[in-house]
Amino acid sequence: MKALKSLRKIVSAIGLLSFISLQAEEAKYIFYFIGDGMGSGQVIMTETYKHKALGESESLHMLQMPVHSFVTTYSASSPVTDSAAAGTALSTGSKTKNGMLGMDADTVAVTSVAKYLHDNGYGVAIMTNVAADDATPGAFYAHVANRGESYKIGRQAAESGYELIAGSSLRGMKKGGKSTDLAEYIESQGVQIATTAEEVAESDNRRIILLPKTSIWESNMGFNIDEIEGAMSVSDLTTTAINHLMRHTPEKFFMMVEGGNIDHAGHGNDGGTVVKEVYAFDKAIGKALEFYAAHPDETLIVVTADHETGGLSVGNQYVGYNAYPEYFVPQSMSKDIFSHYCDKLAKGTEKPKWEDMKQYLTDNFGFFTTVPVSEKEEEYLQAAFTSIFLKGEDNRQTTLYSNFNSFPVEVFKMLNNKAGAGWTTGGHSGNFVPLFAIGVGSELFMGQNDNTQVPGKILKAAGVEVK
Ligand SMILES: [Zn+2]
Repeated sequence: MKALKSLRKIVSAIGLLSFISLQAEEAKYIFYFIGDGMGSGQVIMTETYKHKALGESESLHMLQMPVHSFVTTYSASSPVTDSAAAGTALSTGSKTKNGMLGMDADTVAVTSVAKYLHDNGYGVAIMTNVAADDATPGAFYAHVANRGESYKIGRQAAESGYELIAGSSLRGMKKGGKSTDLAEYIESQGVQIATTAEEVAESDNRRIILLPKTSIWESNMGFNIDEIEGAMSVSDLTTTAINHLMRHTPEKFFMMVEGGNIDHAGHGNDGGTVVKEVYAFDKAIGKALEFYAAHPDETLIVVTADHETGGLSVGNQYVGYNAYPEYFVPQSMSKDIFSHYCDKLAKGTEKPKWEDMKQYLTDNFGFFTTVPVSEKEEEYLQAAFTSIFLKGEDNRQTTLYSNFNSFPVEVFKMLNNKAGAGWTTGGHSGNFVPLFAIGVGSELFMGQNDNTQVPGKILKAAGVEVK
């Protein structure tokens, strides 16, 4: 009798378990975070910064997720992928050649996980802090043989039918300095163009393209470190997407949130800006985790990267067995903004003075105070200053997104060397990228993944079959 009772208990427990797993079978709310250029080095540098420089005991949100995996990122044409081929793999499951977006290597259009889910009733938001037609967001709605076809990509954004697409701009709105008809075309498709989160919140329109007005760049909203007026953080973007989707498609949604500026800063080998971008990206993941806590049986969060940028390591040949991410704390501007400042200075009518620059480096980078600079190092910087500003010998550094004055190049080399940030390239690397997951279906991501497997697993977690 006693045995029967306990058996009954077990059976009812199993019944309850299978009920739970039945209930938990489909992910209704899916967050897909992509840190552009966020390899393991970027994550561990930021984790080290968080603990050692900021004194925060808690780990990054992404590192607290139960599922951790390595992801391979090679493209159909190279062991080192670009963002277009990697974005296509992460969105459609197809390997393609570098430069191609939403098409396989034979130039055949392939369908993204966002489109499959949208066709199955999910509201969709595609959010980024770089341009909305950039490779990663574009891979979720566009099909072009060349990622630079911004006018075409912009039209496809409007035709996608998605609830919300956000980024710093749609670059196809202008050509040769003149406006194209892209804005009119978007509106003709019943899509509203908004410029603030408030506008999105107040609008009854289900389909919105959000392009916040920022003063500086078209291709990104500005780095977190530069605190550009009007720029939306990745956290702001995530919250805006949650609110919009819960209002229009409260039953189920999918959002892709890209931290696009991690890559831009990585191309410039700007260690402090990378760390602050990853830190801000992790805050956005925190917003998704709050949502998960309220809907634990229906939510899936996947965090990964399209590729690694810069070949970043914690530790280099200058610091021995150590690293000093605390030297990034006083840095208050990106290499890009410092370069703009130096260019202005070089073009000015007054000859710049070393003493003023020394003060500027103290105020904005903590040089000579937090960051120790020896006499010899000061002589080196002063010599660079003299040749660049007083003799006009500026051997500029060109990267994918920037063209730097050579004085900031010297300053950032010194800062990276001292902080223990090791860089191997101004481009991408073929290193593994991490994947973190939590929630319904997260166990599907255990073990090693190729980037092409990720979207299929998301669909599986959602219970959406692909024919
Ligand atoms: Zn890149």
